[in-house]
Amino acid sequence: MSLSFDLERERVPCIYEILYQAGNPPALKLRLQKNFVQACKDLSPIILIEASQKKHNLGEFSPLGNDWFGFNNTMAKTNETGEFIEYTVIIPVLRKELQKPCSHCKGTGRDDYFDRACSWCDGTTHEIEHNWKPFTAISATLEMLTNMAEFFKGIGSAEKFQLLSFQVRCGKKMGSWSIGGTYGIDFCNWLSGFSGHHQFSRAIEAMQKTYRHIFGKTEHFSWYFDVYTEDNAWLIISCPGDACSLYPSDYGWAPNKNMGRKFSCHNMDAPMQQLMLLTALAALSDMARETIK
Ligand SMILES: [Zn+2]
Repeated sequence: MSLSFDLERERVPCIYEILYQAGNPPALKLRLQKNFVQACKDLSPIILIEASQKKHNLGEFSPLGNDWFGFNNTMAKTNETGEFIEYTVIIPVLRKELQKPCSHCKGTGRDDYFDRACSWCDGTTHEIEHNWKPFTAISATLEMLTNMAEFFKGIGSAEKFQLLSFQVRCGKKMGSWSIGGTYGIDFCNWLSGFSGHHQFSRAIEAMQKTYRHIFGKTEHFSWYFDVYTEDNAWLIISCPGDACSLYPSDYGWAPNKNMGRKFSCHNMDAPMQQLMLLTALAALSDMARETIK
């Protein structure tokens, strides 16, 4: 057994996939192969768990195989189908209105200097509290899960192939909530089936819906969201931030090479951005899976 995925060059049985669930609230689903879940139960990376708890001030960690998984019961076991177990991550809300006046506009809801609604409270007149904790718990849980997945490449005999793999890092400072990974051979071939510049409106809508849920804003900035591919599986996924995006790590992919492609990220400054880009990736994975069996 190899110690890591090499989806650039080989197809391996699917041990996990990520799915997007529209709805209110929106959610991500992780579908995990039962053999992988069993293998992770035996692994019990207690040193990593304790380090993450200390680093991010997180609570209890529930191991895989129970009704809940992750730090602070982040993922709920919601279904079992065939050889897979499904866990659901409800997208949390970041902003909460407190019952006291906004300290920036003194409760007027206006920014007199720019003659517009107060950008701190969005004109609600109330103080807004930002709660990063559930986002940190999700990021740290995904970090643990995707780290463990690297050790079990090719386990089991699932009928489906792994579409893509990703690794999540839960950071502490600007630029440290990264996502990297590999788009598998079939996923890249699916991407390259779209000619020229092709925009994925379904994945963009998933990110926008996630954004509105997280930040609670009725206004959204459509020019910051984009998901498109160019010829040769050149996939770009962007969300609001300082050029925050996922992009291919290198050039040189061609349809006749029968290869996957590595991807990396730029300026992932918050776990909320990480979650938004993952919803786009999940929506794309859903779309690809509808045509790749
Ligand atoms: Zn205000």
